[in-house]
Amino acid sequence: MYMVLLGPPGAGKGTQGEKLKDKLGLIHIAMGNLLRETVKKKTPSGEKVRAFMEEGKLVPDGVILELLKNEIELEKEGFILDGFPRNLSQARKLDEFLDKEAEKLDLVINLEVKKAVLIKRLRGRLICSECGKVYHKSKIDHSMEICKDCGASLLQRNDDNSDIIKKRIEVYLEHTHPLIDYYRKKKILRNVQGEGTSEKVFQRIMDLFKEKKIA
Ligand code: AMP
Repeated sequence: MYMVLLGPPGAGKGTQGEKLKDKLGLIHIAMGNLLRETVKKKTPSGEKVRAFMEEGKLVPDGVILELLKNEIELEKEGFILDGFPRNLSQARKLDEFLDKEAEKLDLVINLEVKKAVLIKRLRGRLICSECGKVYHKSKIDHSMEICKDCGASLLQRNDDNSDIIKKRIEVYLEHTHPLIDYYRKKKILRNVQGEGTSEKVFQRIMDLFKEKKIA
């Protein structure tokens, strides 16, 4: 199955992507994580990527498509994409890529979350510096700010500050939101209420499969 998780920053794409990966046995490709790995290498191209990310802007398509190609070329069983596509030209490139492989995108899950909830989630978000597990400041024991799974320290992402969050939501509305219509017209879009606990949201996604609302 070839699947895309769509939604604004803070909608829970990464969290649900990991849960779906475990459940469906597909690979989960998080474009933001691939980019953060690139930045860590501190190469000249990594530095360029960092500048776009720190400003909350989209990284140029050329860089994105190159990274994606390396990840998906050999994936015959399917994948769960999160954070890609983020604009119409990326969506068309994905269609072209799958077309060449005589495949097609099966499902786009659009996580719907109100802006106020997104902002609250992003402002309080902490990420494990090693495994990337996501926490929220309001739900952790502050005397022990380490990851429950791997024991590494928890960090706030550079772009999870108020000004950049605002910019990222604007960029989402301008460039990514139009994809909802793009995929609705292809009849592969399913909207899922993305508020509440991650378990509840995951259950809503699973219900789509049970109710056979998925082609
Ligand atoms: P995320 O981890 O998905 O919130 O992405 C973090 C940042 O990485 C975004 O704010 C963008 O700067 C960049 N980014 C992630 N995915 C893409 C993409 N498909 N196209 C362009 N930039 C991206």
